[in-house]
Amino acid sequence: MTFEDSLEEVDPTVAEAIDNERERQESTLDMIASENHVSKAVLEAQGSAMTNKYAEGYPGERYYGGCKYMDEVENLAIDRAKELFGAEHVNVQPHSGTQANMGVYFSVLDHGDKILSLSLSHGGHLSHGHKVNFSGKFYEVEQYEVDPETGRVDYDEIAAHAEEFDPDMVVSGASAYPREFDYARLTEIADSVDAYHMADIAHITGLVAGGVHRNPIDDGADFVTGSTHKTIRAGRGGMIMCKEEYADAVDSAVFPGAQGGPLMHNVAGKAVGFGEALTDEFQDHAQQIVDNAKVLADVFSENGLSLVSGGTDKHLMLVDLRESHDDLTGLDAEEALEDVGVIVNKNTVPGETRSPQVTSGIRVGTPGITTRGFEEEQIETIGQLIVDVLNNPADEELKSEAAEEVQRLCDDFPIYA
Ligand SMILES: *Cc1c(COP(=O)(O)O)cnc(C)c1O
Repeated sequence: MTFEDSLEEVDPTVAEAIDNERERQESTLDMIASENHVSKAVLEAQGSAMTNKYAEGYPGERYYGGCKYMDEVENLAIDRAKELFGAEHVNVQPHSGTQANMGVYFSVLDHGDKILSLSLSHGGHLSHGHKVNFSGKFYEVEQYEVDPETGRVDYDEIAAHAEEFDPDMVVSGASAYPREFDYARLTEIADSVDAYHMADIAHITGLVAGGVHRNPIDDGADFVTGSTHKTIRAGRGGMIMCKEEYADAVDSAVFPGAQGGPLMHNVAGKAVGFGEALTDEFQDHAQQIVDNAKVLADVFSENGLSLVSGGTDKHLMLVDLRESHDDLTGLDAEEALEDVGVIVNKNTVPGETRSPQVTSGIRVGTPGITTRGFEEEQIETIGQLIVDVLNNPADEELKSEAAEEVQRLCDDFPIYA
């Protein structure tokens, strides 16, 4: 065994696990709303010698020698992100979306300051102040919820809540909210109590970049955080965008505040993925993600499934199973669909009565299957198939036919040809 031997030769066990995972991805439909498939180019950038290099600091002001090419790729990632989003300042070093949020909190909040955000069980994120997360331990957090009737956030109620709570930061954005936020209104609410507005676009970074979802930068948000692996296909990681006035505070909050050396192989992946997102093809792709979600939501609704808020504006929908299938839990649904090769996740729904391990809903997204090339025709097929499985979760014959149909779709639409 030498230093140059392949993974296959050096570590066949890990090599096999990687092959198996790739095969699992090829032979199932990834409808988890937060997942996607990156291009071979992004994979190549991420699996590169960039992983060897320390580049603490920022382009032009590193704490290590030999950073010429680090500066080159980081500047490319930053410049492309600025162009994509119209941002004044961009930091591409956060290791994840959660780290991006940490960077923003650390930049302008002190221990014990107040955050107003959407609750996790109504679609928010752990890093928005949940008690098991650092954000819930370091800050005083109060949360808004969606109206159980409409499934939408109620801005008058948030305004009243802000008035009473007097937060230092208002957070918008969510992991399981099928509608657009009114960012302009949230900026206005934050301004009215002299708070910052942070918009977390983790799920919709690609939709904003693709011009098919409102851009909170245009609506006055002070900070916009994102993940780079969900609807934008730039590899696993996070990013922060902000007004120029917060640039220094954000940069020093990320490094040295919250992180050490950046993951430069991932920064290289971000540069490549952002470059791809600047193309016309990506704009069409982003539109297709949303079009596909609308078709899927229609198939579900026409077949009697109840969707939180009645539909979707973006890439995901939340099926509330309590109306149509009271004895089928989110966990049951997730497992029945996995049996046929459709991968979704169980999800709590507004007014949830079951535990987060069981739940009464599933979250279904279109980014991954749109990347595979699915358009309306395939979406109708897969939508009907999902409905049939949910209606007959114990019918093994129906499920084995459904599994064959899923295999046909996977074969016809490979991820990596
Ligand atoms: C996915 C997500 C994040 C980031 O998650 P990481 O797993 O830390 O990358 C942050 N905020 C929201 C709203 C998300 O959905």
